[in-house]
Amino acid sequence: MDSDIVMVDDKGKRLDGRKADELRPMKIEAGVLPNADGSAYLEIGKNKVLAAVYGPRECHPRHLQNPTRAIVQCKYNMQSYSVGDRKRPGPDRRSQEISKIISEALEAVIQVELFPRASIDVYIEILQANAGTRCAGLTAASVALADAGIPMRDLIPSVAVGKANGHLLLDLNKEEDNYGEADLPLAIIPKTNEVVLLQMDGHMTREEFDTAMKMGVTACHEIYEMQKDALRRRYSVAAEEEQEVEE
Ligand code: ADP
Repeated sequence: MDSDIVMVDDKGKRLDGRKADELRPMKIEAGVLPNADGSAYLEIGKNKVLAAVYGPRECHPRHLQNPTRAIVQCKYNMQSYSVGDRKRPGPDRRSQEISKIISEALEAVIQVELFPRASIDVYIEILQANAGTRCAGLTAASVALADAGIPMRDLIPSVAVGKANGHLLLDLNKEEDNYGEADLPLAIIPKTNEVVLLQMDGHMTREEFDTAMKMGVTACHEIYEMQKDALRRRYSVAAEEEQEVEE
């Protein structure tokens, strides 16, 4: 953390030209991997993320089976080439933590009670990382689950709010994340605004926290619209293809 670096100019503009409460440009596409049961590709700023879903299917290893409901097994993985310096491949503490919190968030919306003893497997691949990848991964994963036709109460949009130079900033990029004072990733169930993921690095006052939560929840609703739009586009294409086959 280095508060000498100016990350917000006197007009309130950030290093990449955004306003404090502005998301990076975002793009979501559902159904990009035909061999998976469901999938999604997401870009937000320089982040590039793929999510693929299998299941519900028989849970392996068997000792993890739950006789009353399905379990969600998420594997978040950052590719070696996703960051500037080659990342050592394979699981590490950070990816295990992120996999766990994403699984827990998804279990809050998937109707797991419909599939006893089953596993729903979610693979998140970070192809390019520029801060906010856990949020991007979760946002993409919930679209991939919907694409797989898995019954869910809602989608989960997710974004981080942070603090740099004393300013609250939505959706931190890598520079803001590195040199900022705080980072607060969150995810909600939009229908109820229930929080299903919340973490915090660094420090915020109680007032800053309340404002950051409001900024994050508002942005999650924006992301929710993009998620629904991706699914609408996916299903209108699928319906067109079906019609062509019939003809
Ligand atoms: P998130 O990506 O959810 O913001 P972190 O705050 O842990 O998660 O990481 C912030 C950013 O730091 C990542 O998006 C990535 O650009 C970079 N980063 C994380 N881990 C590594 C690593 N092992 N090597 C290089 N860069 C990394």
